[in-house]
Order: sequence, then structure tokens, then C-alpha cells
Amino acid sequence: MKLKHLLILPALSVMGCQDVQPSQDEYDKYPVPEGEWEEMNYAPAGTKFALWAPSAEEVSLKLYAEGLGGEPVQVLPMKEADGGMWRAEVSGDLNGQFYTFDVKVDGAWLGDTPGVWAKAVGVNGDRAAILDLDMTDPEGWDKDVRPELKSFADIIIYEMHHRDFSIDSLSGIAHRGKFLALTEEGTTSARGQKTGIDHLKELGVTHVHILPSFDYSSVDETRLDQPQYNWGYDPKNYNAPEGSYSTNPYDPATRIREFKQMVMALHRAGIRVVMDVVYNHTAVTEGSNFERTVPGYFYRHKPDGTFADASGCGNETASERTMMRRYMVESVKYWVEEYHVDGFRFDLMGIHDLGTMRAIRQALDEIDPTIYVYGEGWAAGAPQLPEDSLAMKNNIDRLSRIAAFSDEFRDSLRGPFGNDAQGAFLAGLKGHEAGIRFGLAGGVEHPQVNLSEARRTPKFWANEPTQFISYVSCHDDMCLADRLKATLPDVDVAVRKALHKLAETAVLTSQGVPFIFAGDEVMRDKQGVHNSYNSPDSINAIRWELKRENRDVFDYVCGLVKMRRAHPAFRLGDAGLVREHLEFLPDTEDNVVAFRLKGQPAGDAWKDITVILNARDRATQVSLPAGTWQVVCRDGRISPNKSLGTVQGGPVSVAPRSALIVHQ
Ligand code: CA
Repeated sequence: MKLKHLLILPALSVMGCQDVQPSQDEYDKYPVPEGEWEEMNYAPAGTKFALWAPSAEEVSLKLYAEGLGGEPVQVLPMKEADGGMWRAEVSGDLNGQFYTFDVKVDGAWLGDTPGVWAKAVGVNGDRAAILDLDMTDPEGWDKDVRPELKSFADIIIYEMHHRDFSIDSLSGIAHRGKFLALTEEGTTSARGQKTGIDHLKELGVTHVHILPSFDYSSVDETRLDQPQYNWGYDPKNYNAPEGSYSTNPYDPATRIREFKQMVMALHRAGIRVVMDVVYNHTAVTEGSNFERTVPGYFYRHKPDGTFADASGCGNETASERTMMRRYMVESVKYWVEEYHVDGFRFDLMGIHDLGTMRAIRQALDEIDPTIYVYGEGWAAGAPQLPEDSLAMKNNIDRLSRIAAFSDEFRDSLRGPFGNDAQGAFLAGLKGHEAGIRFGLAGGVEHPQVNLSEARRTPKFWANEPTQFISYVSCHDDMCLADRLKATLPDVDVAVRKALHKLAETAVLTSQGVPFIFAGDEVMRDKQGVHNSYNSPDSINAIRWELKRENRDVFDYVCGLVKMRRAHPAFRLGDAGLVREHLEFLPDTEDNVVAFRLKGQPAGDAWKDITVILNARDRATQVSLPAGTWQVVCRDGRISPNKSLGTVQGGPVSVAPRSALIVHQ
């Protein structure tokens, strides 16, 4: 669920009520172009412009000297061409100028738009920029390569917002809150803890998932001297980077170059980059670039002709239409090819139809099959298409190599989205064990996971564990530290730390793909704010002093990451192997889940592994299979490389609110 805009957006525009929208059949009759769908093609001798506007009566091209303000230096009529396209060519070197289109439909001019395919924009993304993209490549870009990734099962995701990650005045980072923050090496907090990209390397994650970093509308790029914050789920230009994360939003090349510098620096650090993409809705409806180009076409409508709103943000796009599907496919390809992005997280993916997601997967596979795709397998309201045609979580098993977030695992650990004070397994409540087992098995069918015992797992929706994102918190709603405070208000910090470690143990020993919300590894908080989409930095920033205060938690999470990366048994990546090797131990008490990875899975150096998760407020006894076991993790300490001692098969005691991990 994404409720972040519901409180601020005006009610659904009534404009759509006045005009009866053409039926979908009529939209489908619009001619579509062959070949490249490119709106601007620059060459020093002349620039070609094109716009797909099949319902237009006239289209004007306006050239400006500046990205903001002033009158056009030239206004030219565009000529109607094949496939619903309008074209114009302007001779001479236009590098550095800006342009907009103005489209006339039913006798009315719709107003300036940079088009739907602006790849470079001026401040606030109101005008597109004419520039030679090759000139935006940083030095060394031609040698940039994706870090090796053998299997999706090897992925560990870290989800971060640019400001959260580096805006703290004690982060030791020069370009705080900017793309460039992720290019700075050797940064430390005031007390000497590694920050920035060095922190990510220390943690050992494989992928950084950056919250929306395309041009979004809520932050005024002309007022960056003012305090402003937004997650960025309010798209304006899908194919240009956000200006407020650049050092100069007025210069169109700067944001592009700095984004590439960020990708290159992360790649050099061995970390891949996932973009959060929000094709399911636009920030505004009337006046959006889509509406000013081909009114009605890119959105779904209700039967009465008004805009549908499954995003909860005022509209929902129509991925099933030829040119919207093509738009999404070409847009992700563009980010991969121009920016070397390595993966995509689809916001409200349940709004998109299955065919479009398959087309995206296929197009990415043709470039590089190691590009990872996952999304939210739900919508904020009921979409206009039948549920079984959409990329909803329960249809993930009809998609190949596309993953979805497991809110069931999350909620079984920490409690439901809708009630922050309600806990679950971590809060010592019983009845969540089946949901925990479901998550530990990566959502695939498993003979010991009984869905009828689980509170809200209607089916095994993942065919493979790599289709299952395992997490306990993300940017949405409360972070883990706040949630533990809200559900267990009377426990002290030592107990919360212990539970924090236990939660991360579940996530990082799950056969699904683990996902960490940035800062959870140092017990960041958001002062209890549930929906912090536009809260100030004082709420959202990670305070890096916490890394020193909670160093034991950080070291513990690092240990889990190291253990997972060193031991393929924890990431089998195949449902059959999970069923073969993962066995849950019987007869554990309420609030305890224990499993064994037996038979030296995937040739692991550890022949047999047992993990016991005890969320009780007292010790539990578990019957350990026979043999001598080396202890890796006990009493809130983990040591993947050096044994913490041995235990023998038979009854073993596991301390309250802790994990025991042993191997033979
Ligand atoms: Ca912007």
C-alpha cells in the first residue's frame, strides 16, 4: 500500500467528467509509429524533433534559451507524419537550448510540455533540453561494468533514500543528500565510523535500491535553500534524473553526469544499482506530460469516463495499451543502456498487466539476464482490469524471474501494516510460526509449511525463492526500531536490540531475497512516524552516531551478511532444492521456529546447518539432531568464521529473544 499522497492531493479532478472519453477501442485505433520513439535527436548540423500525438489537430514546437522563464526564441509548427507522429527539423547547432511542445486537441491548446520522452530537462523538469548525451559521460564510463552476479539468489538488497543516507551533518560526506554522496570514499562519522559507500562495502550488500531518482515534482528545485523532503513517488519526467539530487538542477547535463558517476562508483565498489520506478501513476493528472500529449490515452478510466485511481494518487496508467506498454519497456531499457542500471523495483506493480511485465522481463533479458526485477504485488485501490490479469502477488507464479515483496513474512515478524501497535512473532505473540516458516522457505511450496495455519498466506505464490523478497521493514510505514517500540512499549533497549538482531536473522537466513531498509542495520528510527514521505530530515535522516551506539547490532548484521554470502545453503535459489534440503524441526514451542539445512546443500562447506529462532521472553529447549555442532551464532553474537564453541545433539537451550545457529 502506498498512502503517501492521499493526505495532500486534491480530490480527483472533475475535468474528466465533462468530456466523455473515447472507449478503449477508440484509443486502440490510434496509429502507432514504427521504429524509434524518440522526441529529440541532436546533431551539430541540426536537431530533429518528433512527438507521438495521434489525436492532435496541430502541434507547435517552442525553443527557449533558458530552462525557466522568458519567451520562446522560436515557435515552429510541426508536420503530421505517419504513425500518429508530428515532426520538425531545425538546422544549426541548438546545443544548450530548451524546448517544449504544445498540442491542440478539439480546438484547445493543451499547454507547454517537455513531451513524454525528455531525456534531459531544465530546472523542475518543465522544459526539455537539447544536448549531446555523450558529453554527459564521466571519465571512465566506457569501462564501467556491472559487478558479477551469478544468480539472483546471491542478491542482498539495501533500500535507501539519498537524503536519509547522507544528509546527517555528522556523516562526514561533502555532497550530503546528493547523487555524488555515493561517490565519496573514505568518509567517516564524527566518531570514526565508516559512512557512505564505505559503509555499504563494510555491510556487504550486493544491490543498492535507490528510492525514486527520476525527475519527480514535489521538491521545488529552485528552492533548494529551503528545507524540503519527499520520497519522490510523484513522477514528472520518467527518463531524466531528479534535479534536487544534483549539484546544479539548472544545468541539464549535471544531473545526468552525476547520476552516472554514482552508478560507476557503486559498480567499482562491487555494488549493483536498482532503480525504484513508478510507472503506475503520475504526480498530476490534468496537466501531466501524458495528458498534454495524448489526452486520455495513457490512463485507465472508470466506466463513467473519469480517471481511475488504483494508485491512491489520483490516477492509474494503462499499461495494457500499446504505447504505454512500449513506453515502459523502452524506458527501463533506456535506464539500463544509458545509465547502466542493474535492476528495477516496480512501485504498485499490481496495477500493471502481466503481459507488460513479461515484455519488460524479455526486453531486459535481451540486454542482460542478470538484471533483477521485483515489485509491490498489490495496488492501493482496485484497478480497472480484472485481478487475474495483473502483476499482483498471487499471480507472481505466472511470471518468470520477477519477484514481489512478501508482506506476509514482514507482518508475521512485526505485525500488520494497518496497526502500528499490533505486534506478531517478534512481540512474543503466538500463531505466527507458519507465516515465519513460509518466509524462511522463500514462499515456495513446502510440505512442512501449512498455509491453513498461517494468518494471511492464501497460497505459495513464488515458483522459485528468487521471486520472493524477504523483509521486515522498508521506507513505507514504521522502520523496525520504531515498530518494536510501538509493539513493546515497556521493554528496555537491550530487549529491543535483541529483537532487532532476531528479525534480521530471519530475513538473512530466509531462502527468499533479503532486503534491508537503510539504517535498520544501525537501528535508525523515524521518531515513530508511520508515513514519513514528506517529513523533514530530522525524522528521515539516518543519524550516523547510531552506528557507534549500536555497533553490536551493526556487527551482527554484517556477520549475517558474511555468513549468507559464504554459504550457498542459505540461498539455494531453487524451489526443488529448498524442498530437498530445508527441514523444519518438529515439536518446537510457541513463538519458536527452527530449521535445518541438511545434506550439504549446494556443496556448502557446512554439511548440516541448524537455525533456531526464539522470540519468547524466556529460554526454549529444542531437540538438536545428533552429532557435534559448531556454534556460529548464540546470545546475540555471530561469528561466521570462528566457532563460538560446540554443542551436542539432544536438548539444547536457546536464550530468550535470540537465534542459535550451529553447523556440522
Ligand atoms: Ca524534480
